[in-house]
Amino acid sequence: MGVMRSWVAGADGSDFPLENLPLGVFRRADGKACIGSAIGDSILDLRAAADARLLQKELAAACREDALNALMAMGRGASQALRERMQELLSGAGARARVEPLLVSRAGAEMLLPARIGGYTDFYASVYHATNVGRLFRPENPLLPNYKWVPIGYHGRASSIVVSGAEVRRPSGQTKAADAKEPSFGPSKALDYELEVGFFVGQGNRLGEPIPLAEAERHVFGLCLLNDWSARDVQAWEYQPLGPFLGKNFATTISPWIVTLEALEPFRATALKRPEGDPKPLKYLDSADDRASGGFDVTLEVWLRTAQMREPVRVSRGNLRDLYWTLAQMLTHHTSNGCNLQPGDLLATGTVSGALADSVGSLLEMTRRGAEPLMLPGGETRKFLETGDEVILRGYCEREGCARIGFGECRGVVV
Ligand code: MN
Repeated sequence: MGVMRSWVAGADGSDFPLENLPLGVFRRADGKACIGSAIGDSILDLRAAADARLLQKELAAACREDALNALMAMGRGASQALRERMQELLSGAGARARVEPLLVSRAGAEMLLPARIGGYTDFYASVYHATNVGRLFRPENPLLPNYKWVPIGYHGRASSIVVSGAEVRRPSGQTKAADAKEPSFGPSKALDYELEVGFFVGQGNRLGEPIPLAEAERHVFGLCLLNDWSARDVQAWEYQPLGPFLGKNFATTISPWIVTLEALEPFRATALKRPEGDPKPLKYLDSADDRASGGFDVTLEVWLRTAQMREPVRVSRGNLRDLYWTLAQMLTHHTSNGCNLQPGDLLATGTVSGALADSVGSLLEMTRRGAEPLMLPGGETRKFLETGDEVILRGYCEREGCARIGFGECRGVVV
C-alpha cells in the first residue's frame, strides 16, 4: 500500500494525512456548527464543500447538518464515498483552486461534540483491567465467573459527555472510608481517569432485530478516544448491586475527531488469542472472521501534566489489540436481546489495559488503589488526580508500508 500525497501543507506525515480524514464538528467564524474533516493543520469545511456543489446530492445534504447523525444513518457506503471524494479533492491539483478557500485552521477552531449522542454504553472488555481491578477487591478470585462468557457493560449517561478541552469539575458524592462507621458527603478524594476507546454507531437496527456478528462492523461508524472519569471512592460505596452510577456520570470526555473504520482498515489485527483453557465464546459471539481480523492495532497513551509541570509526561502506553472482546462482539451482544442502537449512539470499550505494568489505563490499577503512588519527574507523586491536573489521551496507528494515522488528543483539566 503506497502513501498518498496531498497538496495541503503539513498533511503528509502528520496524524491527519489523506489516509485518515476523520470527521468532526467545529464552530465556524460565522457561528455555525459545521461538519468538517481534519487534514494536516486544517479542517476541510464540508458544509462549504456542499454549498460549493463539490459533493454528490445525498452526501451534500448530510454534510450541511450540524451533527454527524444523518451521515452516520446512511451507513458505511456513504462514509466510503465521502472519503473517496475528499481524497480526490485534497490530492488532485485540479481541485486545489476551488477547495483551498474551504480550509479552516485547526488551531483556532472550537470543536463541538461530533454527534447528538442518544445513548452511551460502557463495556469492560479488557481482561487485564478486569483482573487488575478484581485483584484489589478479591485477591483470591479476581475475575468473576461470567467475565469470559459475556461482554460486561452498563448504560452510561449521554448528557454529560463533553468534548476534549472542557474542564472537569471534581464531583462531590457519598463515600465511606473502610474504618468509618457511617458514610459522609463531600468532594471525591479518589478522582481517576480511564483510558478508553469510544465507537460510534452508524446505521442502527430496529427494536427486536439483533445484529449478527457478521454484520456488526457495518454498523460501526468510527472510533474516538474516551476518558471515563471515575470517582473511585464514590464508586466503591455505591456500585453494589446495580453497578456504576454517580461515580461515573459526572463527565466523560471524548476526542473531537472520529476516525472512520475505512481509515482503520490497514490496521486490523487478530482478536486477542484466548489462553488455553478459556471457554470458546458462545456461537452468536464467535466467527473465524472476527477471530482473524476483529482487532485493531491502535497504540493508546496517557499523558499527565500537573499544575507545576510545563510539559506533560507519558504515564502509560497500551494497545487496543489487547481487548478480550472485539468491537463487533460488543455491538452484537448489545443488540442480541433486540435492543435497538441508533445512529450517533456511543459505545465504549472500558479501560484498555495491557499485560505490562506500564500499560495500565487507570490510576486505580497503577497505584494499586493509592497504595503505591506514581512518581512524577518533578518529585511530585499521585495516588489519584489533584486539582489542576490535566489528563491527555493520545492514540495512533503505525504499520510498515502504511501512512501513520492519529486520533489527535482527548484532554481535560480537573478543576
Ligand atoms: Mn469505563
